[in-house]
Amino acid sequence: MIKVGVVGYGTIGKRVADAVLLQNDMELVGITANSYNYRIKTAQQKGIKIFPMTAGYEHIEHGISVAGSVDNLIERCDVVVDCTPKGAACKNKEMYKKHQVKAIFQGGESHEVGKSFVAQCNYEEVAGADFIRVVSCNTTGLCRTLHAVDWKYGIKGVHATMVRRAADPWDIRHGPINAIVPNLILPSHHGPDVRTVLPDIEVFTISLSVPTTVMHMHSLTIDLKKQADTEGVIKLFKDTTRVRMVKNAEGIRSTAEIMEYAKDIGNSRGDMPEICVWEETIGTWGNKLFYLQAVHQESNVVPENVDAVRAAIGVCSGEESIRKTNESMSLH
Ligand code: NAD
Repeated sequence: MIKVGVVGYGTIGKRVADAVLLQNDMELVGITANSYNYRIKTAQQKGIKIFPMTAGYEHIEHGISVAGSVDNLIERCDVVVDCTPKGAACKNKEMYKKHQVKAIFQGGESHEVGKSFVAQCNYEEVAGADFIRVVSCNTTGLCRTLHAVDWKYGIKGVHATMVRRAADPWDIRHGPINAIVPNLILPSHHGPDVRTVLPDIEVFTISLSVPTTVMHMHSLTIDLKKQADTEGVIKLFKDTTRVRMVKNAEGIRSTAEIMEYAKDIGNSRGDMPEICVWEETIGTWGNKLFYLQAVHQESNVVPENVDAVRAAIGVCSGEESIRKTNESMSLH
């Protein structure tokens, strides 16, 4: 059993902890608690062991059983998945080095923190690394479909526009709530980030933020080496793991309906970890390929974190890890 700890129990951390609990080759040693809140109370109700970042008196006062300090958590783990906010995780790296424990970081950190990772693209290259960085939700979404397209048709170049959700659904602090905000940095960081996983793909991205909380949307234009036809691309995406075809013809006309669909199929928390490509948006013109895809930012990186744990330990191949994770999370 691989002993796993989760440091930072927020949007990503609580989902990673639940996904680790589903793995028959992993044990969730526990999670850290920063301040006391409903998430920590829920973790206790689920029987998860809690290790406060600081002395923990606040948690004890609220009836939380404290299993020990953060050092106690780390020293009991083979791998720590750090899901703290952007900038916090790289500071924790010293703590992981001190305890000689392997660590998985998230996409908010820069590439230097660890080897960038998307399971279906570069598992084998990253296997055995002490520090792995699961790239951001947008980068993961781009990598999953671009890797498949490059494999089948070859990619000369990509231009992608990322329409980004303003905030996560629970978040009352961020916006915009009534504006469309262009990102003035060209390219947006997503393009260079894709190249930390798929270095041979030329990709240029721009991004803007819109007032929604339920998924990002990407519009892609790809120059192919070999001409594609729509049917072939539909088949390719149907055969690609962690990519799901959705259809306007079945009433999925928007990201809102994808979220409803995720609830209807019984996904935990109403999550949609697969990248959703609209079948009707797949089109070709000469050697160009176009499509629109939606990315559920809160969940699509969760299976990658589970695979990154196995990659860090080097227990099995990428194919085997993806199969195990997919089966446990009911992913295609
Ligand atoms: P979050 O704010 O929802 O959760 C972070 C958690 O870490 C909170 O529970 C907070 O209390 C705790 N925390 C804060 N500082 C800490 C510290 N120093 N030590 C321990 N715990 C601490 O953040 P999130 O959205 O889950 O993001 C985590 C990481 O995942 C970031 O790198 C982010 O860029 C990345 N990410 C986020 C999303 C998303 O859409 N939310 C998607 C993909 C990747």
